[in-house]
This record gives sequence, C-alpha cells and structure tokens, in this order.
Amino acid sequence: MLNKLFIVWKAPERWVSLTSLPGPNERKIQSVIPSETIEQIAAANDIVEVIGSYFPLKRAGANFKALCPFHREKTPSFHVSPQRQAFHCFGCGVGGGVFRFVMEYEHVDFPEAVRKLGTRVGIPVIEDRGTGDEDRQYEARRTLLKLHSGAAEWFHENLLKKEFAGPAREYLKRRGIDREVAKNWQLGFAPDTWDAFLKWAREHGYSRGQLLQSGLVKLRDEERPEGEVYDRFRGRIMFPICNDVGEVIAFSGRLLQSDAKTAKYLNSPETPLFRKGNVLFGLHKTKRSLIEAACAIVCEGQLDLIALFEAGIKNVVAPQGTAFTESQARILKRFVDEVVLCFDADEAGQKAAERSLDALLQNDLIVRVVEMPVGEDPDSLIRRDGRDEFEKRVAGARDFFDYWIEREVAIVDLSSLGAKVQVARRLAETVSHVHDPFMRREVVSKVSARLGVPASDFEKLLSKQPRERLPEMERRRIEAAPVLPHDVAMLCLLALRDEAARAFILEQNWRANLAQTPGTELLVRILESDLRPHDPASLNAFMATLSPQEEDLVSAWLMQRMPLNAMTVAEGWWNGLRRAALRRQLEVAEG
Ligand SMILES: [Zn+2]
Repeated sequence: MLNKLFIVWKAPERWVSLTSLPGPNERKIQSVIPSETIEQIAAANDIVEVIGSYFPLKRAGANFKALCPFHREKTPSFHVSPQRQAFHCFGCGVGGGVFRFVMEYEHVDFPEAVRKLGTRVGIPVIEDRGTGDEDRQYEARRTLLKLHSGAAEWFHENLLKKEFAGPAREYLKRRGIDREVAKNWQLGFAPDTWDAFLKWAREHGYSRGQLLQSGLVKLRDEERPEGEVYDRFRGRIMFPICNDVGEVIAFSGRLLQSDAKTAKYLNSPETPLFRKGNVLFGLHKTKRSLIEAACAIVCEGQLDLIALFEAGIKNVVAPQGTAFTESQARILKRFVDEVVLCFDADEAGQKAAERSLDALLQNDLIVRVVEMPVGEDPDSLIRRDGRDEFEKRVAGARDFFDYWIEREVAIVDLSSLGAKVQVARRLAETVSHVHDPFMRREVVSKVSARLGVPASDFEKLLSKQPRERLPEMERRRIEAAPVLPHDVAMLCLLALRDEAARAFILEQNWRANLAQTPGTELLVRILESDLRPHDPASLNAFMATLSPQEEDLVSAWLMQRMPLNAMTVAEGWWNGLRRAALRRQLEVAEG
C-alpha cells in the first residue's frame, strides 16, 4: 500500500460563491497527507451527516435528495448515497466524495477540506507542508479566524463584567436583552477609547499587519500605511457576525445613542474572511427553523432578529446591510420558498424592501410584506404585542405585488392616461425580474386588472424573460467532461463497484490491453489504485486523487444501479475491448 499520497490538486474555476469564506482562485496546490489519514477521516465523517449539517436532505429510497447547491433548480437532482458515501447531481453533473463536497461548498482547497473534516471528528492532520503562497494564505485566514474569535470573547467579557460597559448593559436591558440572551449571541462591548482593543490584541501576539487586515483597527492616515493605527469600533455594542458554520468572521457595532454625526451601525470592512453581500446575520442559528417553516422572516437589524428569535420566532434572517444581494437571496433559496419582509414603515425601510426585491424575485422566492405600524420595528412590536400577535401579522402579510400596486396606485390619479402609463412602466420593470413563468403570469394578471388594462398590453412592457443563469459553469462542464466510450465506462463502473469483476480484470493482461485502447486513462487509474469496492472510505480516498471532472464521472458511476450479474457483464465487455485492441494491433501490423 502506498504510504503517502502525493496530491496535485487543481481547483475548479470560481463558481458561485456560497459561503462567506472566499476560496482560492484557480491554482495548483501540492500537499502531502498520508493516505491512511485521508481514509481514516473519510471513514469517520458520514457524508449524509456532513452535507445534512449544511442544508436539509430528504430521504428518497436508499439515498437522500436535495435541491442542488451548485446550480439553480426547482426539483431536487442532488443525490447523496449513504452506502457509497458519495454525492452526485444529475442536473449539473457535479459529484464526488465528502472532501469534494466540502471543497466546493466551503470554497476551500483540498488540504483545508481534509483539515476541516479532521477537526470535525478529532483526527489530527499531519502533513509535509511547503512554504508556498497557498500555505501562507491559509495560515493568514486561520490567524484571522482566531483573532476574530478571541476578539468576540474579549468584547463579550467587557459587556458582561466591566464597569465601563454599564450603560451598554442598561441599554440592552431596555431593549429586552438580558444576560442570557447576550450570552446566546455573544454580544459584546467595545470601550470608548482609541486603543483598548489594539492593546489587547498586541498583548496576544497579533501583528500590526494582521490587525489591519482584520479591519478591527484602522490607519489614522490612509496616505501613510506605516503610520499610527487605532480601534475601528469604539463605544459600541458589538454583534459578532458568523458564517453559516458559526465561526466569527466580522462584527457589527451599534452606537448606544443616535448621533447625527456617526452612523448608528458600523460593520467590519470587507476582509479575506468577510464579504458583506454573502452573509446573512443569524443564519448559523436559524437555518433549521428556516427549513422547517419553509419561510424566512427578513428583518433589517440584528436586534430585531435577536428579539424575534428569543421570543420563539426562529425562522428569521437579516441581510448584512440594508438590501438583499443576489448571493444572499440564492443562499436563502436553499432553505425556503417564501420570504416575508418585515422592514420598518419609514422611507428607508420601504426603499430597502424595494431594493431587495429584484434579487429575491430572480431566485423565484415568493415575497410577502408585513406592514408595520409607523414608528415600530419588529423588536418593539413583539415586545408590545407578544408572539401570537406577531405571528398573526406574518400570516396576514400581503403578497408583495398586491402591496406594491396599492402603494403605487395610491399616489397617482389613474384616470389620467399619462400617469397610468408611468405606473405601468414602473411596475413592469419589477415584474420583469420574476423568473418563474407561472408566477409571472399571476402577477401580470393582477397588475393589469388593477390598472384596468388588458394583460397583453401590460406584457408588452415587460423585458424578455431573463436568461437562465450559470452558463459559465455549464460551459465548463461541457468542455471539460471527458467523454468515455461506453465499454470503457462500463468497465470503470464494474472495477469500482464489484470485487469479483475487479479481481477478474486485474487477472487479465490489462496494462498491455489498455495501452492499446484510447480513452482508458481513468480505467487504468481505477485499476492501479488500491481502492476496495465495498469500502466507501477507500473510494473517498481514491476520489481525492482525481481531477474535479473525473470525480464528477466517478460519483455518477457510484450512484448507478449495478447489473445483477456483474461478473458476466465484466467478462463480456472485457473480451470485446480485448478483441478491439487486437484488431487495432493487427491493422497496425498490416499497415
Ligand atoms: Zn447541480
């Protein structure tokens, strides 16, 4: 058995980023991790549990199914097999073992996927590491994560224990947030000084460069990169922002008093850990409830979300910033079909709702709107009226288009033709973003009825149906997918899955025969490998040595139904292949 597995892994081009951790761009990574370790880690991480910790899987016979996280779809074609410990999407073709899944989903490279899964089950990964750029980048991200988790703890301790945080505790208490809730969300306080955090961080060994990269401190003078630095967050209640596995990757700081000069909320800047548009506040805590409810209540601020969550309404998320981005909407679509916007009644809240709309509609989410009484937000409302009343409001939330048509129509005089055309144009622009044809027809008939124009006239104002997205990924697959002759594919399948068939081929003079046959590189690798067909961990270790395209193929074979008489089938295909090889040899000889 190979003692060490030398892995040269080529990352796929950037697809859709699904998590907050920006992954590596296309590049080669060399890492030496003992193959025993890889197998051990694969054996200890059940793929159904691992994938199920990211999003829900539904049982379907012997397998599990879900909407594919790597392409947009309406009916699930993403399959996970507990027996084979593999996943495969029959829609976009992506597939592989547990490492591949973590790589694609978390946007990390192979060694990091191994480390992550190793940590999950308490198996240490010892590897011979180079000193390349990738390693430095990896180390830098790890340090940033450690810094963020340490900072969150420090802010939190301040809030709970320090005298200077008294007013912050008072403030939170007034907002109904007691010690227990503050602990649940690891809320913190940043003292109102220029360097308290800086001092703490320097004492804990963080360098100036690391601190600047984290965004937790900033330069006094942007023009002088070598100059003085100071704490970004001062005198603020600190909300840790987590990625969907619960690691702190950024902060949002809130002032105690409204101050006309400074923003009420201040967020971490974009860093290697944090991309604002990709993170939904609270998701790591609320995803289970989102799945169960199939509906997400979207509120503007962190405090609103916490208030609802702690009152028992747990299917909540908050965009980071005011409006939804395309990627946040896409993340949300993995959990729910419907979104209930719960934004403030003020002008800013309405604008945020409208700006969120395009992204939500484009992802085929049904959007409803809770009308909030003027001057109230979800936080104040739930404290005033209680959970039941709030749930009634959510249940009674109007379809976004009904709500919006009324709003638009209320401010114009529909008896004026000019005004009517203008309103129709504005509405058409938004309706154009509705992607689902059925939903689109519904909305068109609603709008045209309300405006009193024929549906066909209104439809003329709509721009063409938006094109199905992700052509980049599909193109990549079509271009890159190796096309194997059917007989070779069948032999691959059998050599992977059936002990007897594999043993039979291995007894033949397979190297010589395959050397004569084009398109058999993958089959050769399958036969060379010491994989054991009935040991899914060894299959996972084998898949880890393949390119993404090869892994896609192998995972598809792993999902296929096996022929009943594998041995006979293997003999049949093998003899056919051998005869063809002989014929080719003969032709060469005669030629
Ligand atoms: Zn897919």
